[in-house]
Amino acid sequence: MGYRLSKHDFSELLHKLQEDNKVYGPTCKEKKGTFSANDLVVYDQVADLNDLELTTKTKFSPKEIIFPIRQTMFYFTEDQQQIPQVDEESIIIFLRPCDRNAVKRLDEIFLENGPEEDIYYQRLRDKVKFFVLECTTGFDSCFCVTMDSNRVEPEEYTAFLRFEEDELECEVTDPDLEHLIQELGSEIEFNPQFKEEDETEVNLPPKEEITNDLFEHQLWTDYTRRCIACGRCNTACPTCSCFTVKDIVYEENSNCGERQRMWAGCHIDGFTEMAGGHNFRDEYGDRMRYKTMHKIYDFNERFGFDMCVGCGRCDDICPEYISFSNCINKLNQIIEEGE
Ligand code: SF4
Ligand code: SF4
Repeated sequence: MGYRLSKHDFSELLHKLQEDNKVYGPTCKEKKGTFSANDLVVYDQVADLNDLELTTKTKFSPKEIIFPIRQTMFYFTEDQQQIPQVDEESIIIFLRPCDRNAVKRLDEIFLENGPEEDIYYQRLRDKVKFFVLECTTGFDSCFCVTMDSNRVEPEEYTAFLRFEEDELECEVTDPDLEHLIQELGSEIEFNPQFKEEDETEVNLPPKEEITNDLFEHQLWTDYTRRCIACGRCNTACPTCSCFTVKDIVYEENSNCGERQRMWAGCHIDGFTEMAGGHNFRDEYGDRMRYKTMHKIYDFNERFGFDMCVGCGRCDDICPEYISFSNCINKLNQIIEEGE
């Protein structure tokens, strides 16, 4: 069922929802960008509808809400361990279809990729309700249509929202939320709209033609020259889910401390370093190959759909102007031309 309500009424509803939920969405931090005159658009808690930034792509994705950059797994003393509590409150995330599809990828990695679910991910994930923002145009660097991540199904959201000038239209799948909205809005026919065409043309190579012959191709060597291994593409990516684990020992008593996990990434130095100092992806181009194959081939082999959702954030954020979408096109061209 669809509803139309004024932005003022939706804002009131948002305030009410904040009694039991932490609400996150895209926000604009004025003059907090890379340069002092630039704004930074990132996910953060929103107190009011006016806090939502709906016209600019966020630099980073909402993944850190359910997969924090740094997370304590447990505290330890000489003979005890304790897993930290999580907040009672539920979580609402305003996000676009590509980012909702990225969470589907994280779900596969953390919940379906082995005999046990990742409890740290699961206990946050279980609290989340998704409010999907209609996105029919995307941004310059997006290629979500190519990656089949432009659409979402009703079971994947609590609400689907279309913002107009002074009002908004929505579809609601949660009976409790629907009850609240019924009191504020009028019923309408509502059909979610999705982006149908990408501005950035990306040609995915056919999976069956991606072979080990491409392993040593000159394409990757070019990235050894250009990439500086900063890892920004990994941290900005909504589907990168690698982490490393570290024990932090307290100064006061070296038998006590906490085990933390923190984001890691395949482009970053040390990621493949092993005991004895062997590093099996020392060259930066090898890391680009690994990431590319993982995003458009290996993950698909295991889970049946590509890992990359085509959000284009890695293209936007690379300080060396390395374009992942361009890399996919080059790979496809090499395969087509049989080089
Ligand atoms: S690889 Fe790049 S385009 Fe694909 S999901 Fe990650 S950040 Fe987005
Ligand atoms: S953001 Fe660019 S330079 Fe940095 S690791 Fe990724 S590809 Fe390399």
